[in-house]
Amino acid sequence: MSPSSPLATDRPAVLVIAATDSSGGAGLIRDVRVLTDHSVDALCVVTAVTAQSNARVLAVHHVPPDVIRTQISAALETRSVSAIKIGMLGTRATVDAVVDGLVSIANEIPIVLDPVLVSSSGGVLLDGEGRRALLERLIPRVSLVTPNVPEAAALLEEPVAQDEAGLIQQGRRLVERGARAVLLKGGHWSGAEATDLLIARAEVAPQAVVRIMSSRVTGSSRGTGCALASSIAAGL
Ligand code: PLP
Repeated sequence: MSPSSPLATDRPAVLVIAATDSSGGAGLIRDVRVLTDHSVDALCVVTAVTAQSNARVLAVHHVPPDVIRTQISAALETRSVSAIKIGMLGTRATVDAVVDGLVSIANEIPIVLDPVLVSSSGGVLLDGEGRRALLERLIPRVSLVTPNVPEAAALLEEPVAQDEAGLIQQGRRLVERGARAVLLKGGHWSGAEATDLLIARAEVAPQAVVRIMSSRVTGSSRGTGCALASSIAAGL
């Protein structure tokens, strides 16, 4: 019999597929902290190692695709996971490795995808080919994708939406591309309230658009997209 993990194995677990951030503000460390806050265990697949401070991205080392696929199969054979959270992927080769690595789970496990494109310091975290692969190969597999306003536009290769109606149209187009649901994060817009919009396939949620409003927090913080997607995965 193989030895069991020192972690409590009766707690639910989320598989996190993400990159490390040496500043600790975003990425895998942030994800694991949030999951721990929700009393959920984390299994991990490292897609890239990044050297970052809060002000800049200094270097990115992409993990080879075969090592990514092997991490996924090793994690899935370790214990059952209740959800998968996907963060920074970096390149098309990594997107392909993740899609291929997840083939065995078909549609059995909910997947939350945070489409990480750039850091708040301006560093590119997914190249153009990778972005297209995300839209063509990964988004059709996910339960929920969580773009902010500029990410929704970049994924669709369209101009940034100028109003809520335009953003809803982009959300619908992402659902048409195969995501079961899209959570459009409205934090980039101004106003006293930050409104997120949830749009799902008709069979998932019959309401056309669900508005989730909260008071706007001033200032900026690292890793907020990672934290939200991880919290949702913990809830699932
Ligand atoms: N670095 C990594 C490794 C990430 O995964 C993410 C977000 O998911 C970021 C940076 C972006 O975070 P921030 O906007 O806080 O820079």
